[in-house]
Amino acid sequence: MGMQGQPLLVTSLIDHAAREHSDREIVSRWADGSQTRTSWGEVGRDARRFAAAMVRLGMNKGDRIATLAMNHGHHLVSWYGSAGMGGVLHTVNPRLFDEQLVYIINHAEDRVLLFDAAFLPIVERLRDQLPTIDHFILFDAPAREGYSSYRDLIDAEDGNFQWVELDERDPVGLCYTSGTTGNPKGVLYEHRSNVIHAITEIQPDVFGLSNRSVIMPIVPMFHANSWGVPFAAATVGSKLVFSATNDAEGLCDLMQQEGVTHSAGVPTVWIAMFAHMDASGTGYGKLERVIIGGSAAPRAMIERFMKAGIVVGHAWGMTETSPIGTMGKRPWNWDDLGFDEQVDIVCRQGCPPFGVELRIVDDADQPLPRDGKSSGRLQCRGPWIIKRYFKADSDATDADGWFDTGDVAVIHPDGVMQITDRAKDVIKSGGEWISSIELENAAVGAPGVQEAAAVGVYHPKWDERPILLIVKKPGTEASEAGILDYLKDKVAKWWLPDEVVFVDELPHTATGKILKRQLRDDYKDYKLRSLTDA
Ligand code: AMP
Repeated sequence: MGMQGQPLLVTSLIDHAAREHSDREIVSRWADGSQTRTSWGEVGRDARRFAAAMVRLGMNKGDRIATLAMNHGHHLVSWYGSAGMGGVLHTVNPRLFDEQLVYIINHAEDRVLLFDAAFLPIVERLRDQLPTIDHFILFDAPAREGYSSYRDLIDAEDGNFQWVELDERDPVGLCYTSGTTGNPKGVLYEHRSNVIHAITEIQPDVFGLSNRSVIMPIVPMFHANSWGVPFAAATVGSKLVFSATNDAEGLCDLMQQEGVTHSAGVPTVWIAMFAHMDASGTGYGKLERVIIGGSAAPRAMIERFMKAGIVVGHAWGMTETSPIGTMGKRPWNWDDLGFDEQVDIVCRQGCPPFGVELRIVDDADQPLPRDGKSSGRLQCRGPWIIKRYFKADSDATDADGWFDTGDVAVIHPDGVMQITDRAKDVIKSGGEWISSIELENAAVGAPGVQEAAAVGVYHPKWDERPILLIVKKPGTEASEAGILDYLKDKVAKWWLPDEVVFVDELPHTATGKILKRQLRDDYKDYKLRSLTDA
């Protein structure tokens, strides 16, 4: 063999960051508003102490170590420390319902649960139903009866722990999907998949991270590993800014104070940030680039950022894809394009980075052309795409490795992918499909509209017709006629919603997406005015 074959390990990420970027800061803003600072060097040392503490508690290679926590430096230490003793770090989403939490933790057979004091009520309520957990550890508060503390465990160790021997295909992380149908399913990340994903993520056409970047992942660490940001940042020694609370005011202040250049989050986060900015007059500080994903980024949001000179990376991915599947890159002729053409490009979900292959297929699983018109089920494959769900009996892919994402998309001739819908959310009107995403995104641009959801309701002639549910911006007016008029030249005529319904709020999933399933249930028996009037 002519070349060295060091395994691709998550521990090599923290070793590199601690050695080469030792002083680069990691900032944490805690639930009580206080702030602390550590560095990649200190995180490296603490990770070894954390690994030693886990071994002292009796954890073995392959054991699942769970966290129920927001974004902060201690959470980061637990990720790398767990990796170094061969553990599988299972990030649990605290916003799930009790039954889901109990199901997930028991299914994973977690042995340790590290959690934020803010979630103590959840833990108290559920601990009797979590028989596999031997140790409950508070991340950010002193020990108390029945609970030890992260600080005490770390302080008892000297940091000389040697990482255990690892194979790059060993599991290192576990994250459950939100389970839109049936029980949540576990996605088991491996050292190798996480490292390749991290190296991909820093690329200029992906997140564009470097040593001078200051990145604030607003996306929680329990949402597909904060989209991989804590791993990617380690490869180049970016400064990391964490916030354990997601209040718009706190995030805006932190962004200003810490000179955040990059941030990543779902669209709903930015909606709240914009509202705060408008009310307070706060600016963007040093923000250069935002990564928006998890749901389609509305056009009005993209335009607002771009007008402020901020690069928008519109990403598509899933828990099953680690999560980057595609990212909107600026093509080579970007500077020759007009503003509206540039916005058109960013509104689409982008291209796969090297490593990911994409295709769309019809109902007979036949690949469809990349013509920008044919719409089909989106499939992908690659080294950081799921092969098999945790504890499943069979693969989640077909024999050729294609994973069916459950999304519906078109691929344009230039290779840019555009999600038209979640397969379950498309509105089927007269045998044709109406993209609920496109309707929603167009509607969010209308004056006075804060949030919009499009759902299909029963229609005797067309099967389904779209209605739009609208949350108004506080203190503004929006009318049904005004919104329909605004949409007239934005979508095909037959896509225009039959009705606009104003609601106080829309339900969201635990990761901040509009909960379409619930809306479909709620509006299942909705009677369109045009039908009842007739
Ligand atoms: P999750 O695994 O919870 O992150 O959900 C993944 C799903 O979110 C995908 O299958 C898509 O349906 C949706 N999604 C993610 N990013 C986007 C995007 N940029 N545009 C539209 N839908 C998206």
